Amino acid sequence: MSTPPPRTAPPIEQWVPLFQQEGDFAAAIKEGEVRRVPEPGDLQSGEHAIRCQRCQNVLVLEPCRHCGGTRYTLRRTAYDQVALYCKTCTRVYDRTACSCGTIVPLGQKVLLKKVLVQPVPARTILRWTAIAVACIIVLILVLNAW
Ligand SMILES: [Zn+2]
Ligand SMILES: [Zn+2]
Repeated sequence: MSTPPPRTAPPIEQWVPLFQQEGDFAAAIKEGEVRRVPEPGDLQSGEHAIRCQRCQNVLVLEPCRHCGGTRYTLRRTAYDQVALYCKTCTRVYDRTACSCGTIVPLGQKVLLKKVLVQPVPARTILRWTAIAVACIIVLILVLNAW
Protein backbone atom coordinates (compact mmCIF):
# COMPACT_ATOMS: atom_id res chain seq x y z
CA MET A 1 0.00 0.00 0.00
CA SER A 2 1.47 3.33 -1.03
CA THR A 3 -0.03 6.75 -0.56
CA PRO A 4 -1.11 8.44 -3.80
CA PRO A 5 1.08 11.35 -4.90
CA PRO A 6 -0.29 14.79 -3.96
CA ARG A 7 -2.27 16.36 -6.77
CA THR A 8 -3.55 19.83 -7.34
CA ALA A 9 -7.26 19.72 -6.61
CA PRO A 10 -9.49 21.08 -9.37
CA PRO A 11 -11.23 24.38 -8.57
CA ILE A 12 -14.66 24.04 -6.99
CA GLU A 13 -17.57 25.59 -8.89
CA GLN A 14 -19.84 27.69 -6.70
CA TRP A 15 -22.92 29.73 -7.50
CA VAL A 16 -23.30 32.94 -5.53
CA PRO A 17 -26.00 35.66 -5.71
CA LEU A 18 -25.30 38.19 -8.46
CA PHE A 19 -26.71 41.04 -6.37
CA GLN A 20 -25.82 41.29 -2.70
CA GLN A 21 -27.86 44.40 -1.93
CA GLU A 22 -31.31 45.46 -2.97
CA GLY A 23 -29.86 48.82 -4.08
CA ASP A 24 -27.43 47.14 -6.47
CA PHE A 25 -30.32 45.52 -8.25
CA ALA A 26 -32.31 48.75 -8.41
CA ALA A 27 -29.28 50.58 -9.82
CA ALA A 28 -28.71 47.92 -12.46
CA ILE A 29 -32.26 48.07 -13.73
CA LYS A 30 -33.87 51.47 -13.89
CA GLU A 31 -36.85 52.79 -15.77
CA GLY A 32 -36.48 50.37 -18.64
CA GLU A 33 -33.10 51.75 -19.67
CA VAL A 34 -30.18 49.42 -20.11
CA ARG A 35 -27.84 49.60 -17.15
CA ARG A 36 -24.76 47.52 -16.68
CA VAL A 37 -24.76 44.72 -14.21
CA PRO A 38 -22.12 45.68 -11.59
CA GLU A 39 -19.50 43.46 -13.13
CA PRO A 40 -17.89 43.30 -16.58
CA GLY A 41 -19.61 41.51 -19.40
CA ASP A 42 -23.26 41.63 -18.32
CA LEU A 43 -24.73 38.13 -18.12
CA GLN A 44 -23.30 35.26 -20.09
CA SER A 45 -24.55 31.78 -20.84
CA GLY A 46 -22.65 29.21 -18.80
CA GLU A 47 -21.41 31.90 -16.37
CA HIS A 48 -24.71 33.01 -14.88
CA ALA A 49 -27.70 31.07 -13.65
CA ILE A 50 -31.14 31.26 -12.12
CA ARG A 51 -32.09 29.41 -8.95
CA CYS A 52 -35.43 27.64 -8.77
CA GLN A 53 -37.06 28.86 -5.56
CA ARG A 54 -38.96 25.60 -5.16
CA CYS A 55 -36.30 22.88 -5.56
CA GLN A 56 -33.15 25.09 -5.32
CA ASN A 57 -31.97 23.69 -8.64
CA VAL A 58 -29.40 25.87 -10.45
CA LEU A 59 -30.52 26.53 -14.02
CA VAL A 60 -27.49 27.67 -15.97
CA LEU A 61 -28.20 30.24 -18.70
CA GLU A 62 -28.12 28.68 -22.13
CA PRO A 63 -27.25 30.40 -25.40
CA CYS A 64 -30.15 32.29 -26.99
CA ARG A 65 -32.58 29.82 -28.55
CA HIS A 66 -33.26 32.24 -31.37
CA CYS A 67 -29.78 33.31 -32.53
CA GLY A 68 -27.28 31.39 -30.40
CA GLY A 69 -25.98 34.58 -28.76
CA THR A 70 -24.24 34.05 -25.43
CA ARG A 71 -24.55 37.50 -23.85
CA TYR A 72 -27.57 39.00 -22.15
CA THR A 73 -28.39 42.22 -20.46
CA LEU A 74 -30.98 42.90 -17.74
CA ARG A 75 -33.92 45.14 -18.43
CA ARG A 76 -37.25 46.05 -16.98
CA THR A 77 -40.11 45.06 -19.23
CA ALA A 78 -43.22 47.04 -20.08
CA TYR A 79 -45.03 44.92 -17.47
CA ASP A 80 -42.58 46.08 -14.78
CA GLN A 81 -40.86 42.74 -14.61
CA VAL A 82 -37.20 41.90 -14.93
CA ALA A 83 -36.12 40.15 -18.09
CA LEU A 84 -33.00 39.03 -19.88
CA TYR A 85 -32.46 40.55 -23.31
CA CYS A 86 -30.26 38.80 -25.82
CA LYS A 87 -27.63 41.36 -26.80
CA THR A 88 -27.44 39.98 -30.33
CA CYS A 89 -31.07 39.68 -31.42
CA THR A 90 -32.83 41.52 -28.50
CA ARG A 91 -35.16 38.58 -27.82
CA VAL A 92 -36.69 38.80 -24.34
CA TYR A 93 -36.52 36.01 -21.77
CA ASP A 94 -38.49 36.77 -18.62
CA ARG A 95 -38.92 33.26 -17.19
CA THR A 96 -37.55 29.78 -17.47
CA ALA A 97 -38.94 26.33 -16.76
CA CYS A 98 -37.33 24.09 -14.14
CA SER A 99 -37.34 20.31 -14.40
CA CYS A 100 -39.50 20.23 -11.23
CA GLY A 101 -42.30 21.87 -13.21
CA THR A 102 -41.90 25.36 -11.75
CA ILE A 103 -41.85 28.41 -14.01
CA VAL A 104 -39.11 30.57 -12.53
CA PRO A 105 -39.44 34.33 -13.12
CA LEU A 106 -36.25 36.37 -13.20
CA GLY A 107 -35.57 38.49 -10.16
CA GLN A 108 -33.04 39.66 -7.68
CA LYS A 109 -32.90 36.60 -5.46
CA VAL A 110 -32.68 34.05 -8.24
CA LEU A 111 -29.81 35.48 -10.31
CA LEU A 112 -26.51 33.74 -9.68
CA LYS A 113 -22.97 34.02 -10.98
CA LYS A 114 -20.35 31.32 -11.14
CA VAL A 115 -17.16 31.63 -9.12
CA LEU A 116 -14.28 29.16 -9.11
CA VAL A 117 -12.77 28.50 -5.70
CA GLN A 118 -9.36 26.89 -5.53
CA PRO A 119 -9.40 24.58 -2.51
CA VAL A 120 -6.39 25.03 -0.21
CA PRO A 121 -4.81 21.65 0.58
CA ALA A 122 -4.80 20.85 4.31
CA ARG A 123 -1.09 20.08 3.99
CA THR A 124 -0.33 23.69 3.02
CA ILE A 125 -2.30 25.07 5.99
CA LEU A 126 -0.42 22.76 8.38
CA ARG A 127 2.95 23.79 6.97
CA TRP A 128 2.26 27.52 7.34
CA THR A 129 0.92 27.02 10.86
CA ALA A 130 4.10 25.16 11.78
CA ILE A 131 6.27 27.96 10.33
CA ALA A 132 4.28 30.61 12.21
CA VAL A 133 4.59 28.72 15.52
CA ALA A 134 8.34 28.26 14.98
CA CYS A 135 8.77 32.00 14.37
CA ILE A 136 6.88 32.88 17.56
CA ILE A 137 9.01 30.45 19.62
CA VAL A 138 12.23 31.94 18.20
CA LEU A 139 10.95 35.45 18.95
CA ILE A 140 10.13 34.53 22.58
CA LEU A 141 13.57 32.94 23.03
CA VAL A 142 15.32 36.00 21.60
CA LEU A 143 13.31 38.37 23.83
CA ASN A 144 14.03 36.23 26.92
CA ALA A 145 17.78 36.27 26.10
CA TRP A 146 17.73 40.07 26.27
ZN1 LIG B 1 -37.26 23.45 -9.58
ZN1 LIG C 1 -30.53 36.05 -29.58
